[in-house]
Amino acid sequence: MIIAIDGPAGAGKSTVARRVAAELGVDYLDTGAMYRAVTFGVLAREIDPADARAVIEVCGQLELDVGVDRVVVDGVDATSAIRGPEVTSGVSSVAANPEVRSILVELQRAWVRNRGAGVVEGRDITTVVLPDADLKLFVTASPRVRAERRVAESGGDVDAVEASIAERDRRDETREASPLSISAEAIVIDTSEMSIDDVVADVLWRVQG
Ligand code: C5P
Repeated sequence: MIIAIDGPAGAGKSTVARRVAAELGVDYLDTGAMYRAVTFGVLAREIDPADARAVIEVCGQLELDVGVDRVVVDGVDATSAIRGPEVTSGVSSVAANPEVRSILVELQRAWVRNRGAGVVEGRDITTVVLPDADLKLFVTASPRVRAERRVAESGGDVDAVEASIAERDRRDETREASPLSISAEAIVIDTSEMSIDDVVADVLWRVQG
């Protein structure tokens, strides 16, 4: 069984994907972590994430190891740094680069081919990467709720976090290459008024009946 989950920043996709994968005994792939890992490598080489040509060159040279609990870029443990503010503000430019996307999309499809099952989560999984997945979900929540969840997790000012989430949504939705959009075939789950347990139970019910 291949489950594809898309949705905007902070909707709870990663937590849901991780828990559903654990319940089903399959692997989980966080494709956002892959775009973040490339961004980390780009910044480590002091390249501007908006310099498309330099970014493509770096992307082809990087050694990426994106695991569930550990992300290693060129031998350096980047697990916490990929969630930091520098990577978060540079990642949209890197993700808007079509050549970077095609390299990562190939790695994502190979990941699925090698396993034959799994939960894959991101922005273009149901639309571009795995349009034939067995279950396609779009997990979302209002910007306010997403900001409140982020603040509860890692602190900060809720208005500022909401503004930065809204800006990342805008960039992800309006870029030319594989913008974030809802596949006509995806089931939309609005988690604004649901707990993570409710969402996990809902997804498992769809899988197992
Ligand atoms: O999911 P996460 O917030 O970690 O993703 C970071 C960024 O990576 C997103 O804002 C988006 O720009 C990009 N991304 C993407 N396609 C994916 C996954 C993430 O463009 N499949």
